Amino acid sequence: MREVFINRNFREMRELEVLIQEFGEHARVDIVDTVFYKGTEFPLYCLVLGNNKPENPSVGFFGGVHGLERIGSDVVLSYLHTILELIRWDKVFQRRLEESSLVFMPIVNPVGIAIKSRANGQGVDLMRNSPVNCEDATLPMVSGQTYSNKLPWYRGNFTESMEKEAEALCRVVKKYLWPSKVSMAIDVHSGFGARDRFWFPYAHTKKPFPFVAEAYAFTELLDQTYPHHIYEIEPVSRQYTIQGDLWDHLFLQHMGQQNRNFFLPWTLEMGSWNWLRKNPLQLFNRWGVFHPIKPHRRSRTLRRHLALFDFVHRSCLSPGAWLGLRKLERQRLEKLALEKWYD
Ligand SMILES: [Zn+2]
Repeated sequence: MREVFINRNFREMRELEVLIQEFGEHARVDIVDTVFYKGTEFPLYCLVLGNNKPENPSVGFFGGVHGLERIGSDVVLSYLHTILELIRWDKVFQRRLEESSLVFMPIVNPVGIAIKSRANGQGVDLMRNSPVNCEDATLPMVSGQTYSNKLPWYRGNFTESMEKEAEALCRVVKKYLWPSKVSMAIDVHSGFGARDRFWFPYAHTKKPFPFVAEAYAFTELLDQTYPHHIYEIEPVSRQYTIQGDLWDHLFLQHMGQQNRNFFLPWTLEMGSWNWLRKNPLQLFNRWGVFHPIKPHRRSRTLRRHLALFDFVHRSCLSPGAWLGLRKLERQRLEKLALEKWYD
Protein backbone atom coordinates (compact mmCIF):
# COMPACT_ATOMS: atom_id res chain seq x y z
CA MET A 1 0.00 0.00 0.00
CA ARG A 2 1.18 3.52 -0.80
CA GLU A 3 2.37 5.52 2.21
CA VAL A 4 0.16 8.55 2.81
CA PHE A 5 1.90 11.65 4.08
CA ILE A 6 0.03 13.20 6.97
CA ASN A 7 0.88 16.85 7.39
CA ARG A 8 0.96 17.62 11.09
CA ASN A 9 2.05 21.19 10.43
CA PHE A 10 -0.99 22.48 8.62
CA ARG A 11 -1.55 26.24 8.60
CA GLU A 12 -3.76 26.46 11.72
CA MET A 13 -1.37 24.29 13.79
CA ARG A 14 1.60 26.42 12.73
CA GLU A 15 -0.31 29.59 13.59
CA LEU A 16 -1.33 28.24 17.01
CA GLU A 17 2.21 27.18 17.89
CA VAL A 18 3.57 30.60 16.90
CA LEU A 19 0.88 32.25 19.06
CA ILE A 20 1.82 30.02 22.02
CA GLN A 21 5.44 31.20 21.66
CA GLU A 22 4.38 34.83 21.45
CA PHE A 23 2.04 34.69 24.44
CA GLY A 24 4.94 33.37 26.52
CA GLU A 25 4.22 33.82 30.21
CA HIS A 26 0.86 35.50 29.48
CA ALA A 27 -0.73 32.14 28.69
CA ARG A 28 -0.89 28.90 30.58
CA VAL A 29 -0.54 26.16 27.96
CA ASP A 30 -2.11 22.80 28.64
CA ILE A 31 -1.60 19.87 26.26
CA VAL A 32 -4.84 18.18 27.24
CA ASP A 33 -4.14 15.01 25.27
CA THR A 34 -2.36 13.73 22.20
CA VAL A 35 -3.98 11.92 19.30
CA PHE A 36 -2.22 9.72 16.76
CA TYR A 37 -3.07 9.10 13.14
CA LYS A 38 -1.00 6.70 10.98
CA GLY A 39 2.04 7.25 13.17
CA THR A 40 1.76 11.04 13.27
CA GLU A 41 1.24 12.72 16.62
CA PHE A 42 -1.11 15.68 17.15
CA PRO A 43 -1.29 17.67 20.41
CA LEU A 44 -4.65 18.95 21.68
CA TYR A 45 -3.70 22.40 22.92
CA CYS A 46 -5.58 24.54 25.40
CA LEU A 47 -4.54 28.10 26.35
CA VAL A 48 -5.70 29.81 29.51
CA LEU A 49 -5.35 33.58 29.84
CA GLY A 50 -6.15 35.84 32.75
CA ASN A 51 -6.96 35.04 36.33
CA ASN A 52 -8.68 31.68 36.75
CA LYS A 53 -9.91 32.23 40.34
CA PRO A 54 -13.32 30.63 40.95
CA GLU A 55 -15.04 33.94 41.73
CA ASN A 56 -13.94 35.22 38.33
CA PRO A 57 -16.07 34.62 35.24
CA SER A 58 -14.60 32.66 32.36
CA VAL A 59 -15.31 32.26 28.68
CA GLY A 60 -14.14 29.34 26.54
CA PHE A 61 -13.59 29.43 22.77
CA PHE A 62 -13.54 26.21 20.77
CA GLY A 63 -12.92 25.63 17.05
CA GLY A 64 -12.29 22.90 14.52
CA VAL A 65 -14.48 20.22 16.13
CA HIS A 66 -15.40 19.31 12.56
CA GLY A 67 -12.18 19.12 10.55
CA LEU A 68 -13.77 20.39 7.34
CA GLU A 69 -14.93 23.53 9.10
CA ARG A 70 -11.40 24.80 9.60
CA ILE A 71 -12.67 28.38 9.29
CA GLY A 72 -13.93 27.86 12.88
CA SER A 73 -10.32 27.35 14.01
CA ASP A 74 -9.26 30.36 11.95
CA VAL A 75 -11.87 32.57 13.61
CA VAL A 76 -10.73 31.54 17.11
CA LEU A 77 -7.05 32.00 16.17
CA SER A 78 -7.81 35.43 14.76
CA TYR A 79 -9.40 36.43 18.09
CA LEU A 80 -6.35 35.07 19.95
CA HIS A 81 -4.14 37.22 17.76
CA THR A 82 -6.17 40.35 18.63
CA ILE A 83 -5.97 39.50 22.33
CA LEU A 84 -2.20 39.04 22.12
CA GLU A 85 -1.97 42.64 20.89
CA LEU A 86 -4.46 43.96 23.48
CA ILE A 87 -2.47 42.33 26.29
CA ARG A 88 0.58 44.26 25.08
CA TRP A 89 -0.89 47.79 25.19
CA ASP A 90 -4.51 48.00 26.41
CA LYS A 91 -4.58 48.77 30.14
CA VAL A 92 -8.35 48.39 30.28
CA PHE A 93 -8.15 44.94 28.72
CA GLN A 94 -5.30 43.96 31.05
CA ARG A 95 -7.52 44.87 34.02
CA ARG A 96 -10.36 42.84 32.54
CA LEU A 97 -8.08 39.81 32.47
CA GLU A 98 -7.19 40.30 36.13
CA GLU A 99 -10.88 39.78 36.87
CA SER A 100 -11.66 37.00 34.41
CA SER A 101 -10.17 34.21 32.37
CA LEU A 102 -10.36 33.29 28.71
CA VAL A 103 -9.85 29.70 27.66
CA PHE A 104 -9.00 28.64 24.11
CA MET A 105 -9.06 25.30 22.34
CA PRO A 106 -8.79 26.45 18.74
CA ILE A 107 -8.09 23.03 17.17
CA VAL A 108 -10.23 20.36 18.83
CA ASN A 109 -9.89 17.90 15.93
CA PRO A 110 -6.44 18.36 14.35
CA VAL A 111 -6.51 15.01 12.51
CA GLY A 112 -9.80 16.02 10.88
CA ILE A 113 -8.17 19.18 9.51
CA ALA A 114 -5.02 17.32 8.45
CA ILE A 115 -6.94 14.67 6.49
CA LYS A 116 -9.74 17.00 5.33
CA SER A 117 -12.48 15.17 7.14
CA ARG A 118 -15.45 16.29 9.21
CA ALA A 119 -14.88 13.33 11.55
CA ASN A 120 -11.79 12.54 13.60
CA GLY A 121 -9.19 9.93 12.61
CA GLN A 122 -11.51 7.10 13.73
CA GLY A 123 -14.31 8.34 11.49
CA VAL A 124 -16.32 9.60 14.45
CA ASP A 125 -18.33 12.82 14.29
CA LEU A 126 -17.30 14.39 17.60
CA MET A 127 -20.50 16.42 17.82
CA ARG A 128 -22.50 13.14 17.76
CA ASN A 129 -20.20 11.32 20.18
CA SER A 130 -21.72 11.98 23.60
CA PRO A 131 -24.13 9.53 25.28
CA VAL A 132 -27.06 11.97 25.06
CA ASN A 133 -29.83 10.40 23.01
CA CYS A 134 -32.24 12.34 20.93
CA GLU A 135 -35.90 12.04 21.78
CA ASP A 136 -37.30 13.32 18.52
CA ALA A 137 -34.65 13.16 15.80
CA THR A 138 -35.63 15.37 12.89
CA LEU A 139 -33.06 14.26 10.30
CA PRO A 140 -32.36 10.53 9.84
CA MET A 141 -28.61 9.77 9.47
CA VAL A 142 -27.57 13.43 9.88
CA SER A 143 -28.82 13.30 13.48
CA GLY A 144 -26.16 10.67 14.15
CA GLN A 145 -25.86 7.02 13.09
CA THR A 146 -24.27 3.93 14.61
CA TYR A 147 -23.96 1.79 11.46
CA SER A 148 -20.49 2.59 10.15
CA ASN A 149 -17.53 4.93 10.47
CA LYS A 150 -17.32 4.90 6.67
CA LEU A 151 -20.47 7.01 6.59
CA PRO A 152 -20.77 10.58 7.89
CA TRP A 153 -22.33 11.47 11.25
CA TYR A 154 -21.04 8.26 12.88
CA ARG A 155 -21.54 8.42 16.65
CA GLY A 156 -18.70 6.06 17.60
CA ASN A 157 -18.70 3.57 20.42
CA PHE A 158 -19.58 6.07 23.09
CA THR A 159 -20.87 3.40 25.49
CA GLU A 160 -17.31 2.71 26.71
CA SER A 161 -15.86 6.17 26.47
CA MET A 162 -16.02 9.10 24.14
CA GLU A 163 -13.30 9.83 21.62
CA LYS A 164 -10.10 11.39 22.94
CA GLU A 165 -10.88 14.78 21.36
CA ALA A 166 -14.39 14.84 22.85
CA GLU A 167 -13.06 13.82 26.27
CA ALA A 168 -10.39 16.51 26.03
CA LEU A 169 -12.98 19.20 25.25
CA CYS A 170 -15.08 18.07 28.23
CA ARG A 171 -12.03 18.07 30.51
CA VAL A 172 -11.20 21.64 29.53
CA VAL A 173 -14.78 22.78 30.23
CA LYS A 174 -14.87 21.04 33.61
CA LYS A 175 -11.43 22.19 34.70
CA TYR A 176 -11.44 25.80 33.54
CA LEU A 177 -15.07 26.88 33.08
CA TRP A 178 -17.24 25.08 35.62
CA PRO A 179 -15.45 26.35 38.75
CA SER A 180 -16.38 29.92 37.74
CA LYS A 181 -19.54 31.50 39.12
CA VAL A 182 -20.44 32.53 35.59
CA SER A 183 -19.05 30.85 32.50
CA MET A 184 -19.93 30.58 28.86
CA ALA A 185 -18.49 28.63 25.95
CA ILE A 186 -18.56 29.43 22.24
CA ASP A 187 -17.99 26.58 19.82
CA VAL A 188 -17.45 27.86 16.28
CA HIS A 189 -18.83 25.88 13.32
CA SER A 190 -19.77 26.61 9.74
CA GLY A 191 -22.00 25.24 7.06
CA PHE A 192 -25.63 25.53 7.99
CA GLY A 193 -27.76 28.01 6.02
CA ALA A 194 -27.12 31.53 4.84
CA ARG A 195 -27.24 33.39 8.18
CA ASP A 196 -24.88 33.43 11.14
CA ARG A 197 -26.68 31.71 13.97
CA PHE A 198 -25.86 31.84 17.66
CA TRP A 199 -27.37 28.80 19.26
CA PHE A 200 -28.03 27.88 22.87
CA PRO A 201 -29.01 24.29 23.86
CA TYR A 202 -30.87 22.01 23.54
CA ALA A 203 -29.86 20.02 20.48
CA HIS A 204 -31.30 16.66 21.60
CA THR A 205 -34.90 17.66 22.22
CA LYS A 206 -37.45 20.24 21.17
CA LYS A 207 -38.32 20.73 24.84
CA PRO A 208 -37.47 24.19 26.17
CA PHE A 209 -34.00 24.77 27.56
CA PRO A 210 -34.18 25.35 31.35
CA PHE A 211 -32.48 28.76 31.09
CA VAL A 212 -34.60 30.25 28.31
CA ALA A 213 -35.28 33.29 30.48
CA GLU A 214 -31.55 33.93 30.81
CA ALA A 215 -30.98 33.29 27.08
CA TYR A 216 -33.76 35.81 26.40
CA ALA A 217 -32.25 38.40 28.74
CA PHE A 218 -28.85 37.89 27.09
CA THR A 219 -30.43 38.34 23.65
CA GLU A 220 -32.20 41.55 24.74
CA LEU A 221 -28.92 42.92 26.08
CA LEU A 222 -27.16 42.13 22.78
CA ASP A 223 -30.04 43.66 20.77
CA GLN A 224 -29.90 46.84 22.85
CA THR A 225 -26.11 47.11 22.80
CA TYR A 226 -25.64 46.21 19.12
CA PRO A 227 -29.00 46.92 17.44
CA HIS A 228 -27.55 46.09 14.00
CA HIS A 229 -25.92 42.80 14.93
CA ILE A 230 -26.15 39.99 12.40
CA TYR A 231 -27.06 37.00 14.55
CA GLU A 232 -30.14 34.86 14.65
CA ILE A 233 -30.25 33.72 18.28
CA GLU A 234 -32.26 30.60 18.99
CA PRO A 235 -32.08 27.09 20.46
CA VAL A 236 -30.42 24.53 18.13
CA SER A 237 -33.62 22.50 18.26
CA ARG A 238 -35.45 25.21 16.33
CA GLN A 239 -33.43 24.12 13.26
CA TYR A 240 -32.87 20.43 13.94
CA THR A 241 -32.28 17.87 16.68
CA ILE A 242 -29.30 15.51 16.90
CA GLN A 243 -27.93 12.59 18.90
CA GLY A 244 -24.83 12.83 21.04
CA ASP A 245 -24.34 16.61 21.19
CA LEU A 246 -21.33 17.35 23.41
CA TRP A 247 -22.71 20.65 24.71
CA ASP A 248 -26.02 19.11 25.76
CA HIS A 249 -24.00 16.40 27.49
CA LEU A 250 -21.94 18.95 29.40
CA PHE A 251 -24.92 21.13 30.22
CA LEU A 252 -26.95 18.17 31.55
CA GLN A 253 -24.00 16.95 33.64
CA HIS A 254 -23.56 20.41 35.08
CA MET A 255 -27.28 20.63 35.93
CA GLY A 256 -27.17 17.14 37.45
CA GLN A 257 -24.50 18.23 39.91
CA GLN A 258 -26.88 20.82 41.36
CA ASN A 259 -24.09 23.22 40.61
CA ARG A 260 -24.98 26.74 41.71
CA ASN A 261 -22.58 28.20 39.15
CA PHE A 262 -24.05 29.37 35.89
CA PHE A 263 -22.75 27.67 32.73
CA LEU A 264 -24.13 28.42 29.28
CA PRO A 265 -22.63 26.89 26.13
CA TRP A 266 -23.22 28.54 22.74
CA THR A 267 -22.59 27.35 19.22
CA LEU A 268 -21.72 29.93 16.59
CA GLU A 269 -22.87 28.41 13.30
CA MET A 270 -21.54 30.61 10.52
CA GLY A 271 -23.80 30.42 7.47
CA SER A 272 -21.64 29.29 4.55
CA TRP A 273 -24.28 29.21 1.82
CA ASN A 274 -23.57 32.87 1.09
CA TRP A 275 -19.95 32.07 0.25
CA LEU A 276 -21.25 29.36 -2.08
CA ARG A 277 -23.86 31.57 -3.69
CA LYS A 278 -21.26 34.19 -4.48
CA ASN A 279 -18.66 31.68 -5.63
CA PRO A 280 -20.40 28.48 -6.83
CA LEU A 281 -17.14 26.98 -8.10
CA GLN A 282 -16.29 26.41 -4.43
CA LEU A 283 -18.55 23.38 -4.58
CA PHE A 284 -15.78 21.54 -6.42
CA ASN A 285 -13.19 22.32 -3.78
CA ARG A 286 -12.91 19.90 -0.87
CA TRP A 287 -13.00 22.76 1.65
CA GLY A 288 -15.45 24.79 -0.34
CA VAL A 289 -18.78 24.00 1.27
CA PHE A 290 -17.58 24.97 4.72
CA HIS A 291 -14.78 27.43 4.12
CA PRO A 292 -14.65 30.77 2.32
CA ILE A 293 -11.98 30.31 -0.36
CA LYS A 294 -11.62 33.88 -1.69
CA PRO A 295 -9.13 35.85 0.48
CA HIS A 296 -11.38 38.91 0.93
CA ARG A 297 -14.27 36.73 2.05
CA ARG A 298 -12.00 34.89 4.49
CA SER A 299 -10.80 38.22 5.95
CA ARG A 300 -14.37 39.39 6.30
CA THR A 301 -15.23 36.21 8.20
CA LEU A 302 -12.20 36.55 10.47
CA ARG A 303 -13.14 40.05 11.60
CA ARG A 304 -16.91 39.55 11.58
CA HIS A 305 -17.32 37.98 15.03
CA LEU A 306 -14.81 39.90 17.14
CA ALA A 307 -17.52 42.21 18.52
CA LEU A 308 -19.65 39.24 19.57
CA PHE A 309 -16.73 37.56 21.37
CA ASP A 310 -15.94 40.79 23.17
CA PHE A 311 -19.61 41.22 24.10
CA VAL A 312 -19.78 37.71 25.57
CA HIS A 313 -16.69 38.43 27.67
CA ARG A 314 -18.17 41.74 28.89
CA SER A 315 -21.55 40.20 29.64
CA CYS A 316 -19.83 37.61 31.87
CA LEU A 317 -17.95 40.39 33.66
CA SER A 318 -21.19 42.32 34.27
CA PRO A 319 -23.71 39.54 34.93
CA GLY A 320 -25.92 41.97 36.88
CA ALA A 321 -27.09 43.32 33.52
CA TRP A 322 -28.86 40.08 32.56
CA LEU A 323 -28.34 37.27 35.11
CA GLY A 324 -29.69 36.84 38.64
CA LEU A 325 -33.26 37.61 37.54
CA ARG A 326 -35.89 38.02 40.24
CA LYS A 327 -38.74 35.53 40.24
CA LEU A 328 -41.41 37.68 38.59
CA GLU A 329 -39.04 39.05 35.96
CA ARG A 330 -37.84 35.55 35.24
CA GLN A 331 -41.41 34.34 34.72
CA ARG A 332 -42.13 37.24 32.38
CA LEU A 333 -39.01 36.59 30.28
CA GLU A 334 -39.66 32.85 30.24
CA LYS A 335 -43.11 33.45 28.80
CA LEU A 336 -41.68 35.74 26.11
CA ALA A 337 -38.93 33.23 25.34
CA LEU A 338 -41.40 30.37 24.94
CA GLU A 339 -43.49 32.47 22.54
CA LYS A 340 -40.46 33.50 20.55
CA TRP A 341 -38.61 30.21 20.23
CA TYR A 342 -40.96 27.29 20.90
CA ASP A 343 -44.27 26.12 19.47
ZN1 LIG B 1 -19.82 21.70 12.56
